Amino acid sequence: MAYPKEVILRARNILAQKKADRESENSARLAHAYQQVPRIREIDIQLRSTMAAAAKAVFSQGGDAQAAMEQARQENLALQAERKNLVQAHFTPGYLDESPVCPHCGDTGYIGSSMCRCLQQLCALEQQKELGSAFRGGESFENFRLDYYSNTVIPQVKASARSVMEKNLNHCREYARLFSHGVGNLLLFGSTGLGKTHLALAIGSAVGAQGYSVCYETAISLFDKLQKARFTPNEETISQADRLGNCDLLIVDDLGTEMPGQFVTAALYGLLNQRLISGKPMIITTNLTVEETSNRYSPQISSRLYGEFKRLTFLGTDIRVLKNGGMTL
Ligand SMILES: [Zn+2]
Repeated sequence: MAYPKEVILRARNILAQKKADRESENSARLAHAYQQVPRIREIDIQLRSTMAAAAKAVFSQGGDAQAAMEQARQENLALQAERKNLVQAHFTPGYLDESPVCPHCGDTGYIGSSMCRCLQQLCALEQQKELGSAFRGGESFENFRLDYYSNTVIPQVKASARSVMEKNLNHCREYARLFSHGVGNLLLFGSTGLGKTHLALAIGSAVGAQGYSVCYETAISLFDKLQKARFTPNEETISQADRLGNCDLLIVDDLGTEMPGQFVTAALYGLLNQRLISGKPMIITTNLTVEETSNRYSPQISSRLYGEFKRLTFLGTDIRVLKNGGMTL
């Protein structure tokens, strides 16, 4: 999983804040405990001084260092037992427990060189926020309405729109469930208003919730970002374009609605190749046929889209019309 630098940085800041909050909460509780039961404070001071005395005895090398250590150890154990009893008698369990928020990494976010689960979850949450605007509609598999599609059998495909769409829905759900690097690419093909965007967003949302980095772009905004990185390169424009190439899942909505041109064709070819070579999954929605894709971009792009992508064909009548009219086919 490759989270963008900014997402990791934000997640690490949140973790650092949680650690600081926990520490200040711990010291506030300790101060309260000292006030309520002053003996606990005395014990803490004594505990520190017995350890210091023992350490001094060892370093001074005079007298019996071992006996001094043993005596300090015994005193310590007695003080700790007394402290434990006092805490148990006066406070609720765990009140003076100074454990970190995450017991696995001690709130550092890392176990050795690998990222702890707690930081991964924070990254996933930050990632979701970033996707927020695209996913605002709350599109999910659960709220995809199959009853908007007709049960009438379409002779050319010997199936009804509803049965075809039910298969598409299940395919998308499985794709999201089994998502991993190398899971393959999806081409959601069909006319406008048949639920392609809905299912693409539902996949993006489910995949993002698993902690993968997901980029959603309409074709127009995708090429706009690539164009900016190419013609006005700076840290921000380049990092945005890099994300499109490097995120775990890239969703391009409505391919074919952007202004055509040489730059678009070259940029699309470059992006497709980059992601196909590195096995990074893509979902593209479009209403362009093989022939239209070939004419609009190039035969090479058409063969990538129709050769390297699993195509799901969307059938039916424009769902938005039906939703507005409140009728069912
Ligand atoms: Zn952790």
